[in-house]
Amino acid sequence: MKCYDCAASDEVVDAVAICHHCGVGVCLRHCHVAREPGHRLAGVGQSTLGRPAREVTCLTCHSAQSPGYAPPAKVRAGNNAKGRLR
Ligand SMILES: [Zn+2]
Ligand SMILES: [Zn+2]
Repeated sequence: MKCYDCAASDEVVDAVAICHHCGVGVCLRHCHVAREPGHRLAGVGQSTLGRPAREVTCLTCHSAQSPGYAPPAKVRAGNNAKGRLR
C-alpha cells in the first residue's frame, strides 16, 4: 500500500501504517502516533487498561480530533473558495 497523502501530491511513498479512523495508508511523514489508554468492554467497572496502546492516525483525522493542532498548510483545503469566485 502507498501513502494516501503523498499520492495526493503526486509522490509515491510506501505506507508504514494505516489510519485507525479512516483507513488510509500513511507514511511516517503523514501519520501521528498517539499513546492512548487501551479500552476493554467488560461490563461495569474500569474499562481502561493499565498500559497505553499505540494508535496511528493520519494528519487529517488527528487535526479533526485535536482542536489546538493545525495541520501543515498544504493539507488544508477549502479556505480559498470565496477568493476563486472573483
Ligand atoms: Zn506520506
Ligand atoms: Zn485518517
